[in-house]
Amino acid sequence: MSKIKCRYCKADIIYNSISDFPTFPFCSERCQLMDFGLWLNEEHGIEEPLRNDIIDGEQGISHR
Ligand SMILES: [Zn+2]
Repeated sequence: MSKIKCRYCKADIIYNSISDFPTFPFCSERCQLMDFGLWLNEEHGIEEPLRNDIIDGEQGISHR
């Protein structure tokens, strides 16, 4: 038996073998998806403010 901590929620996970443990290194599919979603949001977070700045700037010019 091995024991690790879930990468997302830090819960202890005890397992016999990795092949019995499809969500490794997360305790559940939910944590696996949440962690994946977090880094996806971080990537989008870099792009979105830039796009909003460009749109706002163009609207500001046409308004005035
Ligand atoms: Zn977890």
